Amino acid sequence: MIPITTLSGLDVAVFGLGASGNATALALMQGGARVAAWDDSEAGRSGARAAGIPLVDLFREEWARFAALVLAPGVPLTHPEPHWTVAKAEAAGVEIIGDIELFCRERANVCPDAAFIAITGTNGKSTTTALIAHVLNETGRDVQLGGNIGRAILTLEPITPERVYVVECSSFQIDLAPTIRPSVGVLLNVTPDHLDRHGTIENYAGVKERLIAGADRAVVVIDDAWTRAIAEKYRPLADDLLTASTHAAADVTFSGSTVYDRNEPVANLDGVASLRGRHNGENACAAYAALRLAGLRDDEIVPHLLTYPGLPHRMEEIGRFARTQFINDSKATNAESTQKALSSWPGGIHLILGGKAKDGGIEMLRPYFPRLAKAYLIGAATDAFAATLAGEVAFEACGTLDVAVAKATADALSSPAAETVVLLSPASASYDQYKNFEERGDHFRRLVGAELAHRTAS
Ligand code: ADP
Repeated sequence: MIPITTLSGLDVAVFGLGASGNATALALMQGGARVAAWDDSEAGRSGARAAGIPLVDLFREEWARFAALVLAPGVPLTHPEPHWTVAKAEAAGVEIIGDIELFCRERANVCPDAAFIAITGTNGKSTTTALIAHVLNETGRDVQLGGNIGRAILTLEPITPERVYVVECSSFQIDLAPTIRPSVGVLLNVTPDHLDRHGTIENYAGVKERLIAGADRAVVVIDDAWTRAIAEKYRPLADDLLTASTHAAADVTFSGSTVYDRNEPVANLDGVASLRGRHNGENACAAYAALRLAGLRDDEIVPHLLTYPGLPHRMEEIGRFARTQFINDSKATNAESTQKALSSWPGGIHLILGGKAKDGGIEMLRPYFPRLAKAYLIGAATDAFAATLAGEVAFEACGTLDVAVAKATADALSSPAAETVVLLSPASASYDQYKNFEERGDHFRRLVGAELAHRTAS
């Protein structure tokens, strides 16, 4: 736990009592603040109560006494409309911040030189964050990994000069971190996402830009118009801004399967299963550049890039039988991510998809339809996806994942193709049938395990 001392002796409102909210309340209490915590749900409140966090009905409270409102990142700040706590805090002139801001202020106070690598972007954040942390770990550094991945930031070990904080930041978290100034900031990409919470893509890109604006050193992947504009804006101001690209001239580039540092080949990712595909080339370039800016040498970075074990639910190989691979990409909750997955194989793909569809459905997968041997549809998106596939790709409405896995496995194993893949890459959120994408991916893993056990035994 990182005790937060910057609000010591003051009254602080904390709203949103999930894992990060509870950690925030406890870190503030440990640092000497007087916490008044609340959540709209009884489940949230009872968890906090059990953890010894003082609950106060903030709806009925006099807000002028609070020095700050610390908001959980899932709570709407501006769109679709500000949460009632936001309205009350604004009316009383109380500043609104998040847990990453508390971390940044504490670091500025107690240990401004502690390395703090912050990663953001629409896609690839977790992969890049985990990859950076993996390399640093392998070189023997004391790595503290958290934020939007794994542990809430304030549950990490206290800030010391030897520790390296590697922190994944969502746009919601940056929105609540006005003084974020990482020693190395990484921006991967900006594509339309979460616009319900940011209003417009301009606002969303503006939030992402703040991570770069505040960074001592920065890496910007310049493969979309938004990030290119951000790199052009800050490059003249900073000597320490490295650009990266998978198709344009940049400081660090990816071509074939090789990462180049100013045109010198530094790492060949051929055969690194956890970094398959061009999108992972982008993530590897960004991680490499960030590690260079953090002061590591090539010989410290490159060997460990190649041993990255990957993250669960992201293009994770969970089994193989004869010529068929089974891949869990449950994290692909939008068509863009599924498109990346489909780009990894030339054909023979038995694709399980569906769930709660996003706007635009699977239209953008159309160029990849020739790679699909067949699609197996599950969940609420079935009719919409069937309409897009009709006449182009063989498909079957399966309803649930167990039916889809059974059918896809039978078809893939009996296919005459040289190599086949059973791929769960749903292009949809999981909420219609599962609590989250992890639960969906775990279910897939169990179903595939049972299919393979049954076949191995027979
Ligand atoms: P995030 O944490 O930003 O959601 P992840 O690293 O968890 O990203 O990857 C989620 C999915 O997004 C992956 O399964 C992959 O399909 C896709 N993806 C990963 N990296 C990139 C990238 N650099 N650009 C576009 N899509 C990506």
